[in-house]
Amino acid sequence: MLRFFRSTENQRLIARLLRESFRQHMFGYGVAIVSMLVVAGMTTASALIMSDITNEFTVSKRIDKVYLIAAAVAAIFIIKGVATFAQSYFLSRAGNSIIAERQRKIYDRILEQGIEFYHSTSSADLITRMTNNAQAARNVIDLVVTSYVRDLVSLIGLLLVMVVKQPALSLVCFVVGPLAIYGVNRILKRIRKITEMEFLSIGQIVQVMQETAIGVRVVKSFGLEDAMRKRMYKAVSDVEHRANSIATLEAGTSPIMETLAGLAIAGVILVSGFLVVQGGQTAGSIMAFITALLLAYEPAKRIARVRISLETGIVGVRMMFQLADRPLTLAEKPDAKPLLPGPGEIRFDEVSFSYNEGQSVLKDFDLTIEPGKMTALVGPSGSGKSTMLNLIMRMYDPQKGRILFDDQDISHATLASLRQKIAYVSQETFLFAGTVMHNIRLGRENATDAEVIAAAKAANAHDFITGLAKGYDTEVGENGTLLSGGQRQRISIARAMLRNAEILLLDEATSALDAESEALFRDALQQLTAGRTTIVIAHRLSTVHQADTIVVLENGQVVESGAHRDLLRQGGLYQKLYEYQLMP
Ligand code: ADP
Repeated sequence: MLRFFRSTENQRLIARLLRESFRQHMFGYGVAIVSMLVVAGMTTASALIMSDITNEFTVSKRIDKVYLIAAAVAAIFIIKGVATFAQSYFLSRAGNSIIAERQRKIYDRILEQGIEFYHSTSSADLITRMTNNAQAARNVIDLVVTSYVRDLVSLIGLLLVMVVKQPALSLVCFVVGPLAIYGVNRILKRIRKITEMEFLSIGQIVQVMQETAIGVRVVKSFGLEDAMRKRMYKAVSDVEHRANSIATLEAGTSPIMETLAGLAIAGVILVSGFLVVQGGQTAGSIMAFITALLLAYEPAKRIARVRISLETGIVGVRMMFQLADRPLTLAEKPDAKPLLPGPGEIRFDEVSFSYNEGQSVLKDFDLTIEPGKMTALVGPSGSGKSTMLNLIMRMYDPQKGRILFDDQDISHATLASLRQKIAYVSQETFLFAGTVMHNIRLGRENATDAEVIAAAKAANAHDFITGLAKGYDTEVGENGTLLSGGQRQRISIARAMLRNAEILLLDEATSALDAESEALFRDALQQLTAGRTTIVIAHRLSTVHQADTIVVLENGQVVESGAHRDLLRQGGLYQKLYEYQLMP
């Protein structure tokens, strides 16, 4: 009972895994289980038949019986072979489908999470969970099924043969067996700890590798190779040490078991010798007993080790469920409704927001953004400009107050309808692996080729695209590395153009473009913003000149707002920023 309670957490995890993943694959597992029962039955039969073989050969010596026995042995092993095939085949197929299904689920959950989740979880951690943990789920189910069906049933069958054929001898084995199991269980606890650490170290390796790949320019230009190498070597050695510790523990269990089994067999031979030579027992029953004992060794070993093997997999399953159960940082209300179309007014109504408790970024913030106009946000770095865009996109929810689109609270709207209304052009343009066409079409999935090209033309991107080796079918490389900064920006404008959303949010790039790119970009932007509610985080004088209204922020407060000329005349913060060319 004590052990039962101690391992309830593991049992709960396994029960949940079976509930969530085993049921849908009942057919595959059903066939595998039936096959396993056949394998177990045939194993038992092969031990049982030894008694007939020995007795027929040594006592009755009838040749017709020999034929029969030979045929029976052949049949036993043919059936066992077919059943073993069916068992592995169906087990693997069901297992692979579980991996795929878990990976889809894990990914869906990760996608659903808000930005905060991504800030607090490293991508390396996510990758490890996506790959290792799904595999662990399959391994655990495989192990539970094979151990508790095939091995357990085989073991019970073989033990029955032993007890029926030689009750006294069986006693010897029943004393040694539990001793071995006790020894193995002691090792259990240590393996669990080490495995958990090993997972973390693998995560470290992935992280260092990613940082090296993504930050290769910084690594090279600052000569950080040694520092990176040190980190990587440390992570690699950690994994090596842990793998070695696990290997030592695992290596220890087999020989201990084997030695004990050998001793048991020696004892059995001794006692059985006496029984046959002096006790008048048939050699057949002794042979059946010894065969059953030898055959029982493997399944007994696996069952004794099942908890150790489960420990490794359970760690992965636990991590997988942790991810699945992590509350969504940003969820749609159950009664969420789509936002209705409107002129495109955005209003902050008494909004208070902080990323971390106690560090208020916006406090009782009120602001109305006029529909169809261009509003420029300016202010020193850290004044809350990006935060405003984050809240409008509902990347975060404010702790207090509301954000309204044409008088509709966005926290009551469906996320899809909210995102539909918005096109966002970020400071660093992000391109996905794929062609130019693919990257622009991400703005609106069902757009035709002609619409994509029209958008590219409006974004002043068409000319350079047709000049590329394969035009619109040119691969852009990982994160668009094959294109220049200006080209990437124009592709992202084309993407936003294609989306044709009511509201445009623009985080202006701070990096300087060359004069020609800048002119093309400006022109493209003008087309995009015409007649649309646009909020732009402005870093350039030319942008503020273009804006209808300028909102000046400082420490999360609106300190000034109005048209460029009026603000300059006031001689406040705006005038100072303007003199410094706005660039924070
Ligand atoms: P701006 O865009 O005007 O430079 P931000 O809106 O990015 O300013 O930042 C406003 C404040 O919020 C700053 O003090 C910044 O340190 C803080 N901040 C921004 N993003 C986060 C985040 N993800 N977690 C915690 N604090 C943040």
